Amino acid sequence: MTNIGTTIGWIGTGIMGAPMCGHLLARGCKVRVHTRTLTKAAPLLDRGAVWDVSPRQVIEQSDVVFTMVGFPQDIRQVYWGEAGLLAGLRAGVTLVDMTTTAPSLAQEIYAAARAKGAQAVDAPVSGGDVGAQQATLSIMVGGDKETVDRLRPLLEAMGKTIVHHGGPGAGQHAKLSNQIVIAGTMIGVCESLLYGFTAGLDLSRLLQSISGGAAACRALDVLAPRMMQRDFSPGFLVDHFVKDMEIALEEAGRMNLALPGLALVRQLYAAVQAQGHGRDGTQALLLALETLSNTKLYSTSKE
Ligand code: NAP
Repeated sequence: MTNIGTTIGWIGTGIMGAPMCGHLLARGCKVRVHTRTLTKAAPLLDRGAVWDVSPRQVIEQSDVVFTMVGFPQDIRQVYWGEAGLLAGLRAGVTLVDMTTTAPSLAQEIYAAARAKGAQAVDAPVSGGDVGAQQATLSIMVGGDKETVDRLRPLLEAMGKTIVHHGGPGAGQHAKLSNQIVIAGTMIGVCESLLYGFTAGLDLSRLLQSISGGAAACRALDVLAPRMMQRDFSPGFLVDHFVKDMEIALEEAGRMNLALPGLALVRQLYAAVQAQGHGRDGTQALLLALETLSNTKLYSTSKE
């Protein structure tokens, strides 16, 4: 039974995982926590979460275990490592991977869980650091309907839009579709700001106009102001976005699908990484585009 009294395990307390796990604590859940860098779990431990030394120790004490780590290789380590989740998995436990990773990896986790009489769903999210803090995430779920229905009260503590897309891996496919939109949006926002600035417009006024019209989008609302302040701190890491675009391009290739827009943006982000900004936020795309035109945007807030 998945309710607020269930003991929750949580692995990965970074930019997204820490506030998401915090919402479960706020709802009164008992929470066991593990993450690679202990200090990143400290605020949750102060609020009553209990520290475990490994994913295995977490799952041995939990009914439902959430993972929110970085890359597919982190997922391999957390699930298949020596002291990993699968080593301690028992029948009846539910695994929920909220990391953005490959659909095929979600299917592998599902099969490994079923082999032990346990359940697994993939539940990647969209909405960024702000959505994680405000519990307004869009959560894209793949897996068995019965399991997803059972998890709904917990997912609703973290997000506003929770949609079940189909069997294992379907949540990850939905998230990759989301990232394809974001890729196109990011290049549009950067090029728009560079164009407006070079044409002599006041960028604060420009944002006021275009955020209220057909171009309205979250990247304009949240990331354009960060670009104008030259604040490139993450938010959403460039290295994570490149990981997502690579998975999407690989999946598209498997489906004989040409996605030239996505491929272009992935190449531009290669330049961002080459310039040393892989651990910055995705708004750092601006830096690569500035370099191409040998220009630089600065905050023009004059009001
Ligand atoms: P993050 O800040 O790097 O958090 C990931 C956390 O997982 C880190 O604290 C990391 O430890 C921990 N971790 C990694 N490998 C581990 C392991 N083997 N064992 C235990 N802990 C491990 O990243 P994030 O921004 O929260 O993103 C997490 C995932 O959500 C990524 O897949 C990302 O693509 C996706 N996502 C991010 C956003 C966003 O806006 N940030 C939005 C939607 C989806 P360390 O602290 O030691 O590195």
